[in-house]
Amino acid sequence: MNCPRCGSDMRLGAATIGINPRSGYLSLALRIVYAFWPRADRLWFAPIDRSEPSMVTGQMQAQEAWRCEQCKLTVITPEKPQRPPQWTVRISEKQQGKTTRKAVYDALRRHRVPHPIASPAANTFHAGGTSEVVFKDAVGAQAVATDLQTLGITTEVISPPPVQKTAGAAEVKA
Ligand SMILES: [Zn+2]
Repeated sequence: MNCPRCGSDMRLGAATIGINPRSGYLSLALRIVYAFWPRADRLWFAPIDRSEPSMVTGQMQAQEAWRCEQCKLTVITPEKPQRPPQWTVRISEKQQGKTTRKAVYDALRRHRVPHPIASPAANTFHAGGTSEVVFKDAVGAQAVATDLQTLGITTEVISPPPVQKTAGAAEVKA
């Protein structure tokens, strides 16, 4: 992953709160102390616009984290990432007169869309309905859309929603 602040490579690792995970017996002792320490084990994110702070993590277990050695930016991901983004090629309805079912099917197959997906999509086109084919990357989706457009078919590439980024401050406190 590249650092969103400076663009350098980030290193994958783990983030823990309160104790150095490599400090051996001391770590074990501190772990016991922390078990009784009241509420000093939560990492909060306070947005810069002073809206309600949210807890990044309250768990002592290591969290997946990325760190930029260049600018020291650290990204902690306490939750598993959402499902990967998708790009949808949408073929508008009522275009069946523009080309054949086979032309649409062949165009999809040329871009490695599997038969079980390409066939019903071409059928829907032929029946005058709106068909949608989902891609894992923008380049693949755009290539299919361009190919279909050269056949005279109106298509639209629908991008995944942009990920919201919020600036603020992170701190460990009660
Ligand atoms: Zn950086």
